[in-house]
Amino acid sequence: MKNRQLLMIPGPIEFEPAVMRAMGMPTTSHVSPEFIEVFGQALERTREMFLCPEGQPYILPGSGTLAMDSVAANLVEPGDRALAIDTGFFSHRYSEILKHYGGEVTNLSAPAIGDAPSLEAVEKELRTGGYKVMTAAHVDTSSGVCLDVKGLAALAQQHDVLFIVDGVCSLAAEELRMDEWGVDVALTASQKAVGTPPGLALIVAAPKAMQVFRQRKTPVHSYYADWNNWLPVMEAYEARTPGYFATPAVNLVWALNESLKIILSEGLYARWERHRRMSRALRAGIEAIGLKVVPARPELQAVTVTPPYYPEGVGPSLLDLVKEAGVIVAGGKLPEIKTKYFRIGHMGSVSETDVLGTIGAVEIGLTRAGYRYDVGAGVKASTKALAAG
Ligand code: PMP
Repeated sequence: MKNRQLLMIPGPIEFEPAVMRAMGMPTTSHVSPEFIEVFGQALERTREMFLCPEGQPYILPGSGTLAMDSVAANLVEPGDRALAIDTGFFSHRYSEILKHYGGEVTNLSAPAIGDAPSLEAVEKELRTGGYKVMTAAHVDTSSGVCLDVKGLAALAQQHDVLFIVDGVCSLAAEELRMDEWGVDVALTASQKAVGTPPGLALIVAAPKAMQVFRQRKTPVHSYYADWNNWLPVMEAYEARTPGYFATPAVNLVWALNESLKIILSEGLYARWERHRRMSRALRAGIEAIGLKVVPARPELQAVTVTPPYYPEGVGPSLLDLVKEAGVIVAGGKLPEIKTKYFRIGHMGSVSETDVLGTIGAVEIGLTRAGYRYDVGAGVKASTKALAAG
């Protein structure tokens, strides 16, 4: 494995061997007793991972965008007012999806790139009244900005607004307590901290969201994403009987079930803490090198992705130099500053050696790019942070 490259982008991530073995095994029938059991377990474990004991889980063949689309298609009717909190590319995408289903969308943007609307600003907007739903990306992968979901959920409850959280770059890594905090719908995709190859959309809808769905006055304007088609299938598999609307992504479901087993046996709290430790150490290294990050304040920095600005005189060609040093990191995603920063993903099975290897490769790349600084300062700072626990 001398030419092995470490994948440190914000999804897809590197997957556990047990998960990849499940991907590679002979495909079973989607109605075989073995698969029925596995799908049933995966649904139960999904609900557990989302910390929503009464919630309805959906495991759909599709990516994170399908999860977003499906939630909007089922919960938004033409003319519904929606408040979309905008902290970057993916939260902006949500406002587009809401509009697609006839939502009257108000976009609440951050005051500046890397910042987030304050809870006061959100409350002021909610007080204008009439909102049915509010959407937010827990972590917007484009900016690395992490929102105060607990605070936002409290506001949503106060104003009786359905709160939909895009947890694609947060779930199973960033602390998210759906039931306790009062989040009505959370969604994610398989390829990030959930630790399964791309191709599954995961959603959990709390009872209030299911009630809103059941009380719709108009038909769902998507055939594939309609929960009327999927709900009986999810209920059937959880009751350990087969169901069919569209063929499940059989191997992906086997793989997801393996990954969920790993996640739940590590324990969600331990997993959140490990992500905090790894991101702290990586950031210590980035700061010691002298790089600034996109999130405006430390409390806005996600534990799953770190987006440093390139230093003076360095640009996107740094990514190739870092790759030559053995680590793959990602380019910028926010259109306004796309070529001014890069992104390091650190979620899932990320370890101490991954952090040190990544900081080391970034240092080699920067040095080769001609950036002058105290070479080794990043690795030293990350090492110290990791050693301190
Ligand atoms: N939301 C967020 C926060 C994301 O990071 C992504 C993907 N990077 C998406 C939504 C869309 O997911 P997908 O690419 O799987 O459709």
